[in-house]
Amino acid sequence: MAPDPASNPEPQSTRRPPGIVILALSFLPWAVYWWTASQANPAGVLIALGISCALLAEQVLARSARILDIASLTYFIVAAVGTYGSDTGMFVDTAGPLSFATLLVVALTSLIVRRPFTSEAAKYDYPRQYWRNPTFLATHSITTIVWSGVFFICAVIVAFSETPLTSPLIIALMTAALIFTAFFQTRGQGYLIQQRFKPYEWHVRVVPGGDRQQNEFDIAVVGAGIGGLGTAALLAKEGYKVLVMEQQPEVGGFCGSLMRDDFVFSSGVLSIGGVWDNGPVVKMLDSLGVQSANLFSRHSSRLMYKGQRIDMGNGANGVVNSLSDIFPEESARIGAFVQDASEAFYQLHEYTRVFGSPLPDHLVVQLMGERAAAQLPRSYPALYDWMNKSYADKLGEYLTNTNLKVLLSSAPGQNGTTAEDTPGLRALIGVIGPMLEGSYYPAGSPRNLAAALADSVRQHGGTIMTAYRTDRILTDRRQVRGVRSGDEIFQAHVVVANVNARACALQLLEANEVGGPYIDFIKSLGMSRSAFVVYAGVDSDLSRYPSLITDIEGDYTILINSNLDPRLAPRGRASITMVAPIGYREFPSREEREYEDRKRQFAALLIRKATEVIPELDGRIAVLEAATPRTLESRTSMPEGAMYGFDQSSRGRRPHFRAPITGLYFVGSSTYPGAGIESAIVSATICANDIRGWKRV
Ligand SMILES: Cc1cc2nc3c(=O)[nH]c(=O)nc-3n(C[C@H](O)[C@H](O)[C@H](O)COP(=O)(O)OP(=O)(O)OC[C@H]3O[C@@H](n4cnc5c(N)ncnc54)[C@H](O)[C@@H]3O)c2cc1C
Repeated sequence: MAPDPASNPEPQSTRRPPGIVILALSFLPWAVYWWTASQANPAGVLIALGISCALLAEQVLARSARILDIASLTYFIVAAVGTYGSDTGMFVDTAGPLSFATLLVVALTSLIVRRPFTSEAAKYDYPRQYWRNPTFLATHSITTIVWSGVFFICAVIVAFSETPLTSPLIIALMTAALIFTAFFQTRGQGYLIQQRFKPYEWHVRVVPGGDRQQNEFDIAVVGAGIGGLGTAALLAKEGYKVLVMEQQPEVGGFCGSLMRDDFVFSSGVLSIGGVWDNGPVVKMLDSLGVQSANLFSRHSSRLMYKGQRIDMGNGANGVVNSLSDIFPEESARIGAFVQDASEAFYQLHEYTRVFGSPLPDHLVVQLMGERAAAQLPRSYPALYDWMNKSYADKLGEYLTNTNLKVLLSSAPGQNGTTAEDTPGLRALIGVIGPMLEGSYYPAGSPRNLAAALADSVRQHGGTIMTAYRTDRILTDRRQVRGVRSGDEIFQAHVVVANVNARACALQLLEANEVGGPYIDFIKSLGMSRSAFVVYAGVDSDLSRYPSLITDIEGDYTILINSNLDPRLAPRGRASITMVAPIGYREFPSREEREYEDRKRQFAALLIRKATEVIPELDGRIAVLEAATPRTLESRTSMPEGAMYGFDQSSRGRRPHFRAPITGLYFVGSSTYPGAGIESAIVSATICANDIRGWKRV
């Protein structure tokens, strides 16, 4: 069922008292009880019972009873029956030990059932979407543990000494717990997030324009993929002396092109997101002074599913209309889903407006402070909801039709994961962004995007050395000193590794510098799937087809390069790139005899499948070439030829953008926010900002 916005308690709009006041109110019946009991007056039991009833009545009406108030009511019912029914004085004479023992049991039980009792009052401060957030729960587990300690100490004090319940010591302990809760729930969340990244808290101050020797650089970048080039371009523009070292003769990494006869093909990249006014790609190009207006062509997309052709419209309305035509009974739900997704997507890009890219949570805390960061879930409830859920969770909240969910999960995203294991954040970047703001192709083919960044590096005095492999990242006492290629040493104050983090940690660094635990962590990271790619020059005019066609059941995508830029094939002909994800081990190594046979068979199979979608391919392939997982591996040194680097699913963690070696950064698909051209640009923006010092754009 689609959530009804009206049933979603928004604290700002309903103007309820702050959660800390609600928590304090829950102790009101206890305070009255303790005060009257200390004067040996049993009437306090009845007054406390009355207050408890009133507190709980309001919660029953709101259909959300809090564990502490339920326990209080239960206690005072039992106490009233005991005091007035069986005439026992126990609930007055031993009020202290009994009540603190009860509160201790309540607090511990709430921890065991993962509903720390302080979190229930704090829910008044946060939107429903944030209540399951692990940091929110961790923060309140800590405050509840503190309360448990206070209850325990109070129980011991009143049980084993003459201290009355109204003594300053008891009042001080309870007040301290309340003040700690108020403080920690605004500061604690940021504190906990920062703790996770403690080992990576270093900063190397590099001042641009300093005196440098010939082979001495401010920044050395290993690898000229989009992440490496983007970082280098941003820093060169700031006046840093930058060196980019690329092992291949061409820059671009996976974002490359291939030319055969008169046909030009994307070497793999099918579509690019983030190409809109406030998108990270446009933001970066703008800040480099690169004109983005003529650099991209917008895709037209078609999905093939169960014999149906679904041409997706542009923008939120276009998508809703295209899908509602096929699933009219789901129309309202599709609208609600797209509305929720667009709220979250634009909330994510609020950071882009200010800092040029979305930010991981620890940077949000670092840049905005703990207190401001604690406010964000209130300001961006939709975003925090997506961040806590999988894409399948979000689809399931709104949509019922399985076929519709399959269609919405199939966008040629940048994950290589299923909806179930795609984290909401990845879905926002890889699926929702292109849906709302379009997906694009660099005019003249993907290499042109890399070339534009490389030109920017050179124009600003940076050096790019191609066909130069970095053999070692030089370090001394866990601090980078530079890079070595063959016999040549290049000193650098900061090294940015665009090479995959596993290849970097295991091949380019000294193991004892990296440290065993980090190496174990890196080894534990799984890789994403690889791909088989076919490049076909076709002796037919395919301009009547959309530029991007995804066959969902066939599990492959066809990109008609020449439909986006007619210069990419001779007149009346077409250049197509077909990508089918496959496992690395599904393909033999190049040395094995059957390698070439398998390559031919796979290519023929993919062409056959594609001919069902584009009959004009039949017998009209003039140029044919293919790339296997082994080709992808050798092209970029990406372990297992993984097309998206590390596993992009919610199971997979990924390295922080600062390595545990001072001065060593990771950029590109290895780190936040993951794989894809847009994400590589986000990581480059973050890395460059971190090196030069954060400033608002
Ligand atoms: C078939 C395929 C299809 C894809 N489709 C899409 C898509 O449609 N949309 C999308 O957004 N993304 C797509 N991707 C993913 C996207 O291409 C990558 O996530 C992105 O390009 C990664 O950029 P990067 O900055 O991490 O660098 P990479 O592209 O991984 O480049 C790293 C560079 O480092 C160099 N290098 C490595 N080791 C060394 C060394 N020791 N010394 C010097 N240089 C070194 C490599 O040669 C390479 O140039 C696709 C990928 C593949 C393979």
